[in-house]
Amino acid sequence: MAGSDSTGGRFLLLFVDGVGLAPASADNPWATVPTPALAGLLGGPLTCERVGAGEGWRLAPLDATLGVDGLPQSATGQTALFTGENAPAALGRHVAALPGPRLAAILAERSLLKRARAAGRAVTFANPFTPAYFAEVEAGRRRHSATTLAALASGAPLRDAADLAGGRACPWDVTGEFFARFEAAVEPVAPAEAGRRLAALAAGHELTLWETFMTDLAGHRRRGWTAEEALARLDGLLAGLLEARAPETTVVLVSDHGNLEEASHRSHTRNPVPLLAIGPAAEAFAGLERIDQVTPRLLALLGAS
Ligand SMILES: [Zn+2]
Repeated sequence: MAGSDSTGGRFLLLFVDGVGLAPASADNPWATVPTPALAGLLGGPLTCERVGAGEGWRLAPLDATLGVDGLPQSATGQTALFTGENAPAALGRHVAALPGPRLAAILAERSLLKRARAAGRAVTFANPFTPAYFAEVEAGRRRHSATTLAALASGAPLRDAADLAGGRACPWDVTGEFFARFEAAVEPVAPAEAGRRLAALAAGHELTLWETFMTDLAGHRRRGWTAEEALARLDGLLAGLLEARAPETTVVLVSDHGNLEEASHRSHTRNPVPLLAIGPAAEAFAGLERIDQVTPRLLALLGAS
């Protein structure tokens, strides 16, 4: 494929669903649940007090409301994140859960992964999928998430259970326990090992995307997820990832809307979301203020604008 000049950097985009940036308080699980890997990096938990920059990292609040009333939601928020289009403004409202035809069309045309790959960059979606998942989509019993549509638009093959069993994928639940229930070859791993595997995938691609929604499930108290469990797994993954990160990889953690950071209720919030960049290009994320600015900045850094 013909491509423009790359800056040589590699980017690992950690999409963590339903995580806002709020002050440290007794109501904010980020402040009350131990996150030693993050605290070791930032000098404290992932709260407003850490906004700024340190040795190889930068943390900024990103607006997720995009000028639209109501609570930010997943379908429009993720579309904005992964395309750079103001999806809530385009539709006139925040759209929950999974994209319908209009958002799917925006993702199919403007996907970050599609545009990076079209410029010759090696891109991959680290999450694995099973044949049963695709069968359910085919049968109309479920729809793809915005993140999955952004990945599918690139044309790069998705990872499967064999990749997960072989250590070449990282599932949304980090450990793989969810997949191990119905894929005999999958052995759950410790979160740190999942992080090391993700670091290896990122070392082999210019743009790697990983998605988790255990944080949003915990914020909504769905499927038995708690903030304690979700943050323990996420922080454990970060411990392994930061230890094994290749020197040229910049890790970018971002979310689509707040939720988990207010424990006193089960709804989304209008809080900003964190943009945490860790690695050699961390400073290049200075100046971003909204979630729809993430894709343009990544494309510029990949030489794929
Ligand atoms: Zn969401």
